[in-house]
Amino acid sequence: MKYPKPTRRSWAEPFKIKVVEPLKTTTRQHRMAAIEEAGYNTFLLRSEDVYIDLLTDSGTNAMSDYQWAGMMLGDEAYAGSKNFYYLESNMQKYYGYKYLVPTHQGRGAEHIISQILIRPGDYVPGNMYFTTTREHQERAGGMFVDVIIDEAHDPESLHPFKGNVDLQKLEDLIKKVGAKKIPYISVAATVNMAGGQPVSMENLKAVRKLTAKHGIRVILDATRAVENAYFVKMREKGYEKKSVAAILKEMCSYTDGATMSGKKDLLVNIGGFLAINDRDVFDEARNMVVVFEGLHTYGGLAGRDMEAMARGMEEMTKEDYIRSRIGQVEYLGQKLLDWDVPIVKPIGGHAVFLDAKKILEHIPQEKYPAQTLAAEIYLDSGVRTMERGIVSAGRDPKTGENRRPKLELVRVTIPRRVYTQAHMDVTAESILEVYENRKKVKGLKMVYEPKHLRFFQARFKRI
Ligand SMILES: *Cc1c(COP(=O)(O)O)cnc(C)c1O
Repeated sequence: MKYPKPTRRSWAEPFKIKVVEPLKTTTRQHRMAAIEEAGYNTFLLRSEDVYIDLLTDSGTNAMSDYQWAGMMLGDEAYAGSKNFYYLESNMQKYYGYKYLVPTHQGRGAEHIISQILIRPGDYVPGNMYFTTTREHQERAGGMFVDVIIDEAHDPESLHPFKGNVDLQKLEDLIKKVGAKKIPYISVAATVNMAGGQPVSMENLKAVRKLTAKHGIRVILDATRAVENAYFVKMREKGYEKKSVAAILKEMCSYTDGATMSGKKDLLVNIGGFLAINDRDVFDEARNMVVVFEGLHTYGGLAGRDMEAMARGMEEMTKEDYIRSRIGQVEYLGQKLLDWDVPIVKPIGGHAVFLDAKKILEHIPQEKYPAQTLAAEIYLDSGVRTMERGIVSAGRDPKTGENRRPKLELVRVTIPRRVYTQAHMDVTAESILEVYENRKKVKGLKMVYEPKHLRFFQARFKRI
């Protein structure tokens, strides 16, 4: 075979590999037994039985030598660890908020802010739901209302900022229930459930303007805000020459606080925080964090974890890093597009989302096409992906009915700095193989359904 001459100049990962972790290959027979044992739920597979793990980008990042060196500088004091103060000052430097409350991970921050700001009967608008975010809003007695633009629900739409808030929907909600019943709007950047799609700066500004008029707070889900900032630089007029760091800070300046899962952008394996500008909310958050996470200067983390997060902030904003991060996702997605495999467009920041509704169009949503597709990809190659469709959407807490999301997707999520371009090739080829044999696939039935966040532990059988 002859390689075609390149039509572009390549770039490579902006790091070299110092430590390696061997991967295990398995036989199809082994994988058949493993997925059966796991109830056809990739969350229930043992990591040992997985070849390339693209389940999630959460906590699966590779830390740098600089971060590992920082781990040795952990100040494991119960109170007032120096790593906390470094994290606090870097948060202020890169995100620009006043106060920091560390938490064990993102949902710890979501829990605290939901309990402080939401009263039973309140409405919490957001640009598409996220599983843990909505769960904590509902536990606090709030009702989530989706105010994302319609394009977000259309996997074919090429809108460059599919994460945008629909201002009309937001205004309609304010008119309908009154601003007093809306403690805050939760704005995610980028929007995980829409396919890693960004919000534009223009939209953030407009949301700020509208909510300020009504005294409604804006809380940013900053989990992948750096990846959002990169898209703003690439796609939004006036930002081409700005640094990703400056764009990130500007984005945050239109919000009142943020919940953060450090396990994503911050290039660590565990950690998170709540950041807030309001002193009273901060005081309440500090009261609550002691009960649920740990003292306000560690929030469930070791000193070394806070040091690694602080250093991650410095690395995530480096231009060559973020270009290769998004570039790798783009590489995988473009390959699949070139081979006519249906995926969500434009390609998102942290993952390629396969359109399971299209790929397995002969399987109705009640037979879990996305769950089925993820199991088939695992069977083919040992590549682990996850469902983002009717199983993840769960049931309506009021009616008990299944929520039926328009999008029925399989998320192929890329951990940061972990895999190489060759791993992306193997993954793309496996997905193509499954796609070409799609007609043989049947579907699943659910045989065990957990009460909360069911996608994590639900079990299925083949039909
Ligand atoms: C992961 C994630 C969270 C929750 O964070 P955890 O660290 O997993 O608790 C919240 N929002 C978004 C968008 C996420 O991707």
